Amino acid sequence: MQSVSHSNISPQAPQEVLIVGAGPAGLGMACALADAGIASCVLEANSLASIEQPAEDGREIALTHKGIAILQALGQWQDLPAAEIAPLRRAHVFNGDSPDHLAFDAEGSGREVLGSLVSNHWLRRVAYQGALKRQGLITIRADSRVCGLEIGAEAASLTLSGGERLTAQLLIAADSRFSNIRRQAGVGAQMRDFGRSVIVCRIKHAQANQGIALECFHYGHTLAILPLNGDCSSLVLTLPADRATAMMAWDEAQFMQWVSSELRGRLGDLEPVGARHLYPLVATYAHRFAAQRLALVGDAAVGMHPVTAHGYNFGLYGLSLLAGLLAEAKKKGQDLGGSAALQRYASEHRRNTWAIYQGTNAVVKLFTDERPAARLLRRGVLQAAQALPPVRAAISAQLTGRQPGLLRQLRSLVGAS
Ligand SMILES: Cc1cc2nc3c(=O)[nH]c(=O)nc-3n(C[C@H](O)[C@H](O)[C@H](O)COP(=O)(O)OP(=O)(O)OC[C@H]3O[C@@H](n4cnc5c(N)ncnc54)[C@H](O)[C@@H]3O)c2cc1C
Repeated sequence: MQSVSHSNISPQAPQEVLIVGAGPAGLGMACALADAGIASCVLEANSLASIEQPAEDGREIALTHKGIAILQALGQWQDLPAAEIAPLRRAHVFNGDSPDHLAFDAEGSGREVLGSLVSNHWLRRVAYQGALKRQGLITIRADSRVCGLEIGAEAASLTLSGGERLTAQLLIAADSRFSNIRRQAGVGAQMRDFGRSVIVCRIKHAQANQGIALECFHYGHTLAILPLNGDCSSLVLTLPADRATAMMAWDEAQFMQWVSSELRGRLGDLEPVGARHLYPLVATYAHRFAAQRLALVGDAAVGMHPVTAHGYNFGLYGLSLLAGLLAEAKKKGQDLGGSAALQRYASEHRRNTWAIYQGTNAVVKLFTDERPAARLLRRGVLQAAQALPPVRAAISAQLTGRQPGLLRQLRSLVGAS
């Protein structure tokens, strides 16, 4: 594969934009800016090999139609091999020990599917390929850990661990939900540690998944099956952190036997594929998405609990919004670090994400609360959704990224903070 230029940038020559983090959001941001004629330099602490050939990390990302449309506009969707895109046709939700389920599909939405699933390492790969195609306007510097920043009236500066200093009109933090840039810029974040972890891995099964996701809210843990291509699915198991750590030490036979019994024969005989991966569950929401000469994108702005599958979708919505506003500012000859575009980005991205962030946390709270009243409430919520097609349609609309209202209502019912 051809390599992006890694030329050193003179400390005196101001860049238009510096982006910290070459995850999918940082690279996607650079591509969207390049399409608006804005040059950027992406700084990544990890090696170039980790960006060029990202390792499989067990995450299968459910993308909404809006997220897919942004990837298409960036040309990244077209770079995904067809076999790596799995359709999500329906979702079946099971509660506790009940054999009944609540079904969601895309009916009435004018679409055939609720969304699509793509592995995270493939999304990262096509984001890098997108940057390669725009190398006249994108510089990627790997092995470059940012350790300091200074924001002034005229420019923003970053200091790398080796002591080098870089300057630009605007700094964009795409350095994960635990963003150090956010913290160093004095922007706080709401953090919610769920005290739970998620184990993810691929499994092969005897029966076809038919593109149906299974979400089983058992008592004590949640088990989701996300349908992939070729009689394969992704297993997503959420449970208290100590239990998750203990289960990571189980051998394959013990783990698969446990999963089989939890799935109660659904999907037939199971076989593990590849390694299990563990992620602690902490959701974050920055107090502000922009400050003087600074914008936050991706998980650095909003780090979601994965249950409603919005994290990277939000990353895409945010970077597309910000690039559009900066393109307008550039056309008008304005300073890219000036406040008008950044403030608009901050308020619109908040409007697009806040209700779903809070609603998702409310869903997690409701479905992990084992007290009798909460069990009753969750049964009631699912029964109401089953009995009322408009409620089901609203949940489907929310799942496909078309309408956040239902999660807002659920939030007020559960009383999430
Ligand atoms: C189990 C799981 C399932 C998920 N499922 C879904 C889903 O179904 N749908 C969905 O939309 N989202 C999902 N997500 C969320 C999605 O994976 C994230 O939103 C997305 O990967 C975040 O990308 P990012 O680029 O913002 O951050 P990251 O991928 O975390 O990248 C941040 C980058 O910044 C670099 N960096 C950090 N600090 C520095 C520094 N000081 N200097 C230089 N570089 C630095 C890091 O090395 C890293 O490369 C899921 C997440 C998990 C854990």
